Amino acid sequence: MNRKYVDCREQLSESKCSLRISGLEDEVVRASIEHAVSVHREKDTPEFREEVRKSLKDEPQAQFEKKSSAA
Ligand SMILES: [Zn+2]
Repeated sequence: MNRKYVDCREQLSESKCSLRISGLEDEVVRASIEHAVSVHREKDTPEFREEVRKSLKDEPQAQFEKKSSAA
């Protein structure tokens, strides 16, 4: 499963927030909504969740892929 990330610098340009959240899609959506509500005074609505979900970007694969193949 691909990991996703959201970067506050790209989302909320009026803030000086530099937070970047990465993980599985559901984790990133949940964490970034909690962050947006507590820090950016957003409202936790289904519409906002959808907006957050759409704004997720794919994390480059190589950064987290474990070398599990036998040497
Ligand atoms: Zn932020």
